[in-house]
Amino acid sequence: MIPLDGAKVNASWTPSGAPKHTWSNSLRSGAGRADRPGHRAGQPACFFRRTIRETDVRILLTEQQIQEGVHRLAEKVNDAYHDRPVTVLAVLTGSIVLLADLIRRLTMPLRVGVVQASSYRGKVTTPGPLTINPELMPDIRDRSVLLVDDIFDTGRTLAALAERLRQWEPTSLQSAVLLRKQGRQEVEYQPDFCAFTIPNVFVVGYGLDYDDQYRNLPYLAAVEESDL
Ligand code: 5GP
Ligand code: MG
Repeated sequence: MIPLDGAKVNASWTPSGAPKHTWSNSLRSGAGRADRPGHRAGQPACFFRRTIRETDVRILLTEQQIQEGVHRLAEKVNDAYHDRPVTVLAVLTGSIVLLADLIRRLTMPLRVGVVQASSYRGKVTTPGPLTINPELMPDIRDRSVLLVDDIFDTGRTLAALAERLRQWEPTSLQSAVLLRKQGRQEVEYQPDFCAFTIPNVFVVGYGLDYDDQYRNLPYLAAVEESDL
């Protein structure tokens, strides 16, 4: 399978050069609402400000751009698999939003499973040691498996997962990611399907978190250490 590069997101984009949307603009536009967790009745909708300083959020991909990207991603997967049954294996936790949107656009018979893998813990934006927990995983022997993850950064998570999963002897093993960070890869392994290539910035939203928050943002925002 030829790896798909995916749409390139504004390759010259830098955090400081990006269009800025203040948290309060985001809240006004409905991206964050007064019914978010942490909000108390009668207080302004300032959920984000409890952990992120009153600062700017830079929207890297809007909700609509993400949906278009997921649509293109699903078309590539549909073209590749046709009617072949597939086990879609989502890497917890960042891929859950993508998983929900992607599978509704896939047309082949499919099963869904999850596998736990994590290299980020708590309040850090740089990877730590990788842990893989296959306990929740369905049987994948003699199945065509499509691993789904949120982002391909150094590539270590997907490369290690793919190697580990091959022990269960699936018929085939491919992977699809929403995002690939430019110039960060440290492994030979490449995802087979990718929706967007983004610059090397830390992103939150659409399933991706910082310290387990912001997964519920419908758009993708870039944050800098100084924002956190
Ligand atoms: P990799 O092993 O490719 O370096 O990292 C993959 C995992 O790291 C992803 O599944 C994701 O959970 C996390 N990750 C990498 N880059 C980012 C980022 O910019 N934002 C967030 N929230 N998580 C990231
Ligand atoms: Mg992840």
